[in-house]
Amino acid sequence: MNVHANLTSGALLVLNSGSSSVKFTVFRVEPEGREITPLFAGQLTGIGTDARLSAKTAAREPIADESWADRDTGSVPVLLPHLISWIERHLPADLPLMAAGHRVVHGGANLHHPERITDDVLAELETLIPLAPLHQPQNVAAIKVLAESRSDLPQVACFDTAFHHAQPAHATTYAIPRHLTEAGIRRYGFHGLSYEYIARQLLATHPDLATGRVVVAHLGNGSSLCAIKDGTSIDTTMGFSVLEGVPMGTRSGGLDPGILIYLMRKFDMDVNDLERLLYHQSGLLGVSGVSNDMRVLLGSSDPHCAEAVDLFCLRVAKEVSALACSMGGIDALVFTAGIGEHSAAVRAGVCAHLEWLGIELDRARNAGDEALISTDASLPVHVMATDEEFMIARHTVDVLTNRGDARHGPAAQIEGASGSGEGCCTAPAQAQET
Ligand code: AMP
Repeated sequence: MNVHANLTSGALLVLNSGSSSVKFTVFRVEPEGREITPLFAGQLTGIGTDARLSAKTAAREPIADESWADRDTGSVPVLLPHLISWIERHLPADLPLMAAGHRVVHGGANLHHPERITDDVLAELETLIPLAPLHQPQNVAAIKVLAESRSDLPQVACFDTAFHHAQPAHATTYAIPRHLTEAGIRRYGFHGLSYEYIARQLLATHPDLATGRVVVAHLGNGSSLCAIKDGTSIDTTMGFSVLEGVPMGTRSGGLDPGILIYLMRKFDMDVNDLERLLYHQSGLLGVSGVSNDMRVLLGSSDPHCAEAVDLFCLRVAKEVSALACSMGGIDALVFTAGIGEHSAAVRAGVCAHLEWLGIELDRARNAGDEALISTDASLPVHVMATDEEFMIARHTVDVLTNRGDARHGPAAQIEGASGSGEGCCTAPAQAQET
């Protein structure tokens, strides 16, 4: 594996690999790795069934929408090299593909920073597969395919868990026997690349808050919240897996563990039944019986849809309060990701439970998805776009140019940030679900 190349200018590929889809963003990097701007982005969906490539430029002009169903067996190892060739054909002639950065869901207890992929790092990532069996295998598979088919491309892994690694033990420890904690059954937290992006943006736009106590609500298909104090993650709602915390599109969020014992005894459910129930049949879909999509629920007159939205808002609000407690107070609340950035109704529903905390929304600002949606007298409530792909690109360049700021939390301002996830070609639909 090539571990010596440095990336100072060229094209950088960011990959977010799932079981049936691979999402990608291609960035231009120049000069000396200081500026990073998106060129185009897309996704290969339906892998294994009816593969299809779609892509758009940074200006959101479509550049591909085609069936790839005829390309062999339709597995990631077969299709990824085709995708790389397609990407290279669409790059400007003076912009060679120089490197790849990967979103990797789990860094475990040892990988706290973005890492250049070596055989040792790859081996460590494989040992973490049992901790995230639905996501980690796909991340590792993509890294291996690239290492074999394009050994000239240096690769960097960026972890969803890394931003949370400095949390105090009382936030990461479950109340279970110590030997189980020592065996790795602890709270890791996820969505770290999103929280890191927000923390860095706060430093650029609201330096007072960047050194304060902020609760960030990342509300999308996968949802979690994070308490960020002085730019560092203090506590978060997802724990050992991406199931803990608030209800999500199809995931339950936290529930009484006694339910699992009961389901196994009473309904003879096995591990696969429980996995299906908790990851794919619960959350907004389970409660509404209609959809996992917040837009559908908000547009429906079915009382079960309204119930699902109400439950979601209350659970999010309760976590805001809990995370404020973890920080000894709160100076601002930030909403981000698909629901957080675009749903005025959900933001209003959440904040209605938080008036006792000094939160009061300005109706017009909230309806307009403005950057500040609270009244002037309120504890500030912000809406910010997240951009995990940009964060991966930034880290990848920093690792490959041996720049230190990838290793020091949000202290460094985002250089060359091309804008928000919404403003560049990284459409909300880009994010692989965690
Ligand atoms: P994400 O996983 O960040 O892409 O977010 C996906 C979620 O955002 C889905 O539940 C969408 O229904 C939701 N979403 C996107 N746009 C809107 C909108 N305008 N109003 C309500 N929910 C939205």
